[in-house]
Amino acid sequence: MDIKNNILETIGNTPLIRLNKITRNLPCTVVAKVDYFNPGNSIKDRMALKMVEIAEQEGKLKPGGTIIEGTSGNTGMGLALAAVVKGYKCIFVTTDKQSKEKADILKAVGAEVIVCPTNVAPEDPRSYYSVAARLAKEIPNSYHMNQYDNLANRLAHYETTGPEIWKQTDGKITHLVCTAGTGGTITGTAMYLKEKNPDIQIWAIDVYGSLLTKYFRTGEIDMGEVHPYISEGFGEDFVPKNYDMSVIDHFEQVTDKDGAVMARRLAKEEGLFCGYSAGSCLQGLIQLKDRLKKDDLVVAILHDHGSRYVGKIYNDQWMMERGFLDVKTFKDIVSSRA
Ligand code: PMP
Repeated sequence: MDIKNNILETIGNTPLIRLNKITRNLPCTVVAKVDYFNPGNSIKDRMALKMVEIAEQEGKLKPGGTIIEGTSGNTGMGLALAAVVKGYKCIFVTTDKQSKEKADILKAVGAEVIVCPTNVAPEDPRSYYSVAARLAKEIPNSYHMNQYDNLANRLAHYETTGPEIWKQTDGKITHLVCTAGTGGTITGTAMYLKEKNPDIQIWAIDVYGSLLTKYFRTGEIDMGEVHPYISEGFGEDFVPKNYDMSVIDHFEQVTDKDGAVMARRLAKEEGLFCGYSAGSCLQGLIQLKDRLKKDDLVVAILHDHGSRYVGKIYNDQWMMERGFLDVKTFKDIVSSRA
């Protein structure tokens, strides 16, 4: 018999899928690590489970305890799944930038969701960082996971994502390309791959409006780089502790529009219905095509599923209002439907 004991045992071991059309102008082979195959539909299930396991081992999370986290979706989903199976409560603090559907999904798996204003500084008592920290102090037997600075985040990728990619490519991977937010995915995966072969190139994809790229290039935390952006799930306005910049070779920035348009192409041309950051990841890689050679084998990590973005990048009206969709194209679509 082949029976999983619970949903958590289905985390990881996601497929590597060759891209056949979208990267046809690149000289090399590009494959996608499609992590929406995780039970919570994102790569973040891996680190959520690891953060819970380490907190248990360290005695920070005790039976019947409450998990607290500032999260807008993917990490929350992973934590909620772990909490349901292991018997914890979850309180998630999120911002009003996130769609109501995201909060409803988290509530569906038993979490309590508190919505905070987006446009306040992190140190403001109303910010989601501050509220999460305060709740963790006030609620007995609770633990604030803090995915940004909790090194269990990158450890999950060092232990699972990295070894899976190495094995699936028979050690032939030459480049890893991955969007960077908390830094857990790229750092953990890169730490493992560079141990196996230090020549593997690690390319981080960032968004305009984030300070990570400038920090990588200059070591300077330049708040002048920071401005609001529409892309979701990656880019930061500070440098989380999960980063080890020494394992990253290059940072590339992508616009909100280019990432959104490429996500739509991924769905239409490859049948990969992915989230915003997956489009940005592929767009960043295509911007770097002159650095690639015929025998290269590029692995692009695609973080999550498109279902969370149906009211956004997969909605023509939403795209058009932001100038991401050519008005003429949009008119064509409408008239062809009429
Ligand atoms: N894309 C999506 C959709 C995400 O949820 C995240 C996690 N914030 C990332 C990319 C970036 O991953 P990481 O936080 O591990 O750097």
